[in-house]
Amino acid sequence: MYQAKAYGVDSKSSPFEAREIPRREVTDRDVQIEIQYCGICHSDLHQARDEWNSVMPTVYPCIPGHEIVGKVTKVGSGVSTFKVGDTVGVGCMVDSDHECPMCKSGLEQFSPKTAFTYNSPDKHGTAPVTYGGYSESVVVDERFVLRVPENLELSGAAPLLCAGITTYSPLKRANVGPGMKVGIVGLGGLGHMGVKIAKAMGAHVVVFTTSPSKVDDAKRLGADEVILSKDPEQMAAHQGTFNFILDCVSAKHDINMYLGMLALEGELTLVGAPEEPLEVSSFALLFGRKRLSGSLIGGIAETQEMLDFCGKHNLVADVEVIKPSEINEAYERLLKSDVKYRFSIDMSTL
Ligand code: NAP
Ligand code: ZN
Repeated sequence: MYQAKAYGVDSKSSPFEAREIPRREVTDRDVQIEIQYCGICHSDLHQARDEWNSVMPTVYPCIPGHEIVGKVTKVGSGVSTFKVGDTVGVGCMVDSDHECPMCKSGLEQFSPKTAFTYNSPDKHGTAPVTYGGYSESVVVDERFVLRVPENLELSGAAPLLCAGITTYSPLKRANVGPGMKVGIVGLGGLGHMGVKIAKAMGAHVVVFTTSPSKVDDAKRLGADEVILSKDPEQMAAHQGTFNFILDCVSAKHDINMYLGMLALEGELTLVGAPEEPLEVSSFALLFGRKRLSGSLIGGIAETQEMLDFCGKHNLVADVEVIKPSEINEAYERLLKSDVKYRFSIDMSTL
């Protein structure tokens, strides 16, 4: 065991503070990574503040962070896929059983044995729960380590490990491509990656935003059209025209309004995970035989596929690079929908 520098919280109301956390020495299958950048996902905020208590209560201290990129500094004797010096990424998962039907079909995110990168029981016993990427280093089973394409700038590549895969997976499953009208709701970390990826897939992309100040940015990021969702006239003009809508909103909002935007048999997939339940009007689904679904990150093979896709299309997140000491301020800005469009923590300043 060794001690690593990290940033974490001691309770749902305490601020982020510097601390040291235990990390295990590499076992046969492990890769030790010096973390260069870690993105700040809104899920980090939900969990640091125990907003998902009914589903996954937070164990403190909590060290969030599941958008990790860095360099391999050590590998276990049985590691064959990575070597010291490789540029790698780690997303939301760090371990699973590899044997259950979910793992075998590449859906590790749904395995009951999967350990998430933070706030999951630590089967190595290094700490009560896993500790995430707001830290100088991490030790991860090689089967959960991803290869980051060389052409991608690293501060912007970090958010691909969650925001990238969480939007890529449902867009791909919906066969998004040329000839499809795709809506992205909420231009934050996930939403802006959704725009870039849906555009690279060839769709006609429309952003729904509550923030008038984001209209120009949405177009620069690749949106063909932008709708201010609080403007009933703009909303009415697009009623019943979307094949697919990806809802990336972090707070309670009216999804019936977006179901109304779908064309016949169109689908709305929720990736946003607000603390409070959303209300669905059955009529919003009945008329037009519409579908409402959800999606959770993506499996490991699919995450590598997404990274390679982003490498090929040269896609990274638009980031504001911050120091670890600025995490508290960044969280307050997330709550005001004021992130352009992902915070990426520079761990070299830890
Ligand atoms: P974010 O960067 O904070 O973006 C959220 C965006 O939602 C905001 O920028 C804002 O966009 C919109 N929004 C916020 N409050 C709103 C409100 N009250 N009404 C309407 N729109 C509102 O968050 P994120 O990191 O992208 O994460 C988004 C959600 O996805 C979070 O709940 C997160 O936990 C969840 N998530 C899920 C998965 C998964 O696997 N399913 C993975 C990662 C994250 P505008 O300013 O454009 O309106
Ligand atoms: Zn995330």
